[in-house]
Amino acid sequence: MSRTAAITSALLLAVLLAACGGNSGGKSSAVGVVTSLPVFGDMVEQVGGDRVEVFSLFPAGADPHTFEPGPASVRRVADADIVVVNGLDLEPGAMKVIEPNIGSGTPLVKMAEVAAGDGGIDLRKFGEEGHIAGEPGEEGTDPHAWLSVPNAREYARVIHDALVQVDAKGAATYDSNYDAYLAGLDDLDSYAKEAVSGVPEEQRKIITTHDAFGYMAEYLGFQVVAVVAVSPGQEPSASDIANLQDAVDDAGVRAVFREPQLGAEADVLRGIASDLGIQVCTLYSDSLDNDVPSYIDLIRFNADEIARCLG
Ligand SMILES: [Zn+2]
Repeated sequence: MSRTAAITSALLLAVLLAACGGNSGGKSSAVGVVTSLPVFGDMVEQVGGDRVEVFSLFPAGADPHTFEPGPASVRRVADADIVVVNGLDLEPGAMKVIEPNIGSGTPLVKMAEVAAGDGGIDLRKFGEEGHIAGEPGEEGTDPHAWLSVPNAREYARVIHDALVQVDAKGAATYDSNYDAYLAGLDDLDSYAKEAVSGVPEEQRKIITTHDAFGYMAEYLGFQVVAVVAVSPGQEPSASDIANLQDAVDDAGVRAVFREPQLGAEADVLRGIASDLGIQVCTLYSDSLDNDVPSYIDLIRFNADEIARCLG
């Protein structure tokens, strides 16, 4: 066979394979999962393994509260076998693309809402723990539930159950991947608690760029005492910044925490930290990057960083 004929045959085979489609098992017919944040894409991949092909609407460093996916995402949503998001109004830009374009029979799974609905997770209100500055979201439900490891177990359960629903033939694979992921989350739970165990009581205060860490703080025995951004994308006023600086000073913390996806808010925090002569450290919440490419990496990083900066 000539080289050209060989390539033509290979292409023809590829076209035939693509035309077969369907969820009949095997790699060419992977379950197409569209999700919002890359951190949820990671969770879906952990449970779905080789049976799923995941596309995250948000790039790794995007702020889900303000980012709007481009028109190329429309096709991804329309072609998806299942769409998995957080819900609780975390990702309004994603919902703008998902709701009008999702297939009529395609499941839309809002993980935090499902897990809260069946009692798997307890939802928090924003600012439940008495913020001393910034007055973050006095009402409204805090959507950042995945940042506590016990809640992440519930997200994984919801993902598992949803994948079994759309791809029953893969149930055994999803069961074993889910069990393995839960074991990993158990190790992570022990690791995170141990990492922060040496932080003294008076330093157990999180001051950061946006109000994402209520669940994580409660889980690890900390308190979110102040944030820069009260509402997503809204800049603090000069008096907000002055109040925040007083709050940071009163808190007596050795460090405040920027988040990689929030540049302007991080600048505010840097200014305050520089005036007070304290450190600016980093916490991950809504975004991943090359240094922190998975959920497990995210929690490990945060626990280590808290221990390093406040311990
Ligand atoms: Zn957030």
